[in-house]
Amino acid sequence: MRTHQDWAKEAAQLTFRTRAFVGGRYGEAGDASFENRNPATGALLSEVVDAGKAGVDQAVAAARATFESGLWSRASASFRKERMLRLADLIAENAAELALLDSLDMGKRVVDAHELDVPFSVSLFRYYAEAIDKINDEVAPTPPGTLGLIRRVPLGVVGAVIPWNYPVDMLAWKAAPAMAVGNSVVLKPAEQSPSSALRIAELAAEAGIPDGVLNVVPGLGDSTGKALGLHPDVDVLAFTGSTEVGAYFLQYAGQSNLKQVWLECGGKSPHVVFADAENLATTAKQTAFGIWFNQGAVCSAHSRVLVQREVHEEFVSLVAAEAAAYAPGDPLDPASGMGAIVSPEQTDRIMQFVDAAGSSGARLVTGGERVRLDGSDCYVQPTVFDDVDPASELAREEVFGPVLAVTAFNTEDEAVALANDTSYGLAASVATSNLSRAHRLAERIHAGTVTVNGVDAFSAGTPFGGFKGSGFGRDLSLHALDKYVGLKTVWINH
Ligand code: NAD
Repeated sequence: MRTHQDWAKEAAQLTFRTRAFVGGRYGEAGDASFENRNPATGALLSEVVDAGKAGVDQAVAAARATFESGLWSRASASFRKERMLRLADLIAENAAELALLDSLDMGKRVVDAHELDVPFSVSLFRYYAEAIDKINDEVAPTPPGTLGLIRRVPLGVVGAVIPWNYPVDMLAWKAAPAMAVGNSVVLKPAEQSPSSALRIAELAAEAGIPDGVLNVVPGLGDSTGKALGLHPDVDVLAFTGSTEVGAYFLQYAGQSNLKQVWLECGGKSPHVVFADAENLATTAKQTAFGIWFNQGAVCSAHSRVLVQREVHEEFVSLVAAEAAAYAPGDPLDPASGMGAIVSPEQTDRIMQFVDAAGSSGARLVTGGERVRLDGSDCYVQPTVFDDVDPASELAREEVFGPVLAVTAFNTEDEAVALANDTSYGLAASVATSNLSRAHRLAERIHAGTVTVNGVDAFSAGTPFGGFKGSGFGRDLSLHALDKYVGLKTVWINH
């Protein structure tokens, strides 16, 4: 196990890639750039190229050329499989470096990046690599003298635009299934966390994946992201990020070439706790994890707790007692409970929600303070507000920070109504020991994933995504492949 000192020493030796990776190599520096700062200290890490329209044009051209060459899109299943498995191995071999890049870029605890994010990204590249030679196409029951083949074909150039909260994982969620079925990818990482994606592109080349299959264009949203969204030669755009920006991509598609758009957006997920929950102390630990893990910067963060009146007070005290385990600290220190908030702007935004909640009549139970550490004030205490009005901003809007809103309910019907009273529909969790109630709630709550007696469960093999303002299309599982293939019918008359 690495210590705080070990991580700090390795961090000091890191190299940050800063230029777009296109057609198998890092490009020239562009006309524009942006600063990449460590939110935990405020230190400048690197000056990164904003690829912009010119950079996106080059990357899409490289992706298109490789796609048309057939080197990857028409390669044998075993060729793609072996190279993607090799990329998974290389990501695993470079786990400490990738974890550090993400931690320094966006403030998460390096141990979480190292023990959870990078291994999950490795498992996804393996999962989709292994799927490649196990999925068959179909033969339709057509009239005698004919053969009707139903083929799943890659669509071409996939644009992927991802957020900063899980940089290594978000890359794998999009690129692994898109590449597995033969597409070429142009991926734009978030401007707050460009470094690990630029490094993984280089590892893909080292793995023998043909040049132009995985291109990474760093840049800002309204320059590089927009250029990718509007590009007339991008066939599919897979986006993860806020609902607001997701809506732009639908517009970009309409204004350009009707590219297919898949959106994984935000959430305001409820954790519904009934008085008959088997163990309230365990449930409180799950609640704490569901809101404070990764500084609350989780799309499916369970930022609303709906708790039955009989156990309301006891449960709120149990959750508040868990806050000590999530005290913010240096992200490189394994003893820190939470890391830093991604940026001063996001910290300001979180504190605006805290201030507004205070003046809306909600009761502050614990936390609520911004914290200064190591010369940076991008830290926020784990925070709980009780008696939150379901109509208030804190109950309705995604904070994307470590702030929990608690509301009490009396009956099961009331709990369902509150859970569904949201413009989002990404995830929900339910704590109950009543089996029938568990099934009823799983059926009645309108969310892409409902977890009973746990919080926010997901795996490589299960679909992940939302309803309503949380978007559409599914990441993870074999269903994700459907986003990156088209059905082609081939008739052979004989
Ligand atoms: P964001 O929407 O601000 O940015 C996401 C990406 O879009 C970034 O790469 C950004 O540069 C780009 N972008 C921003 N403005 C753009 C524009 N005008 N045109 C084109 N591209 C633009 O989100 P964020 O702050 O990076 O991430 C947080 C959000 O992501 C939260 O809402 C969170 O819920 C969501 N998220 C969802 C999932 C999911 O699977 N549903 C997973 C993780 C994060």
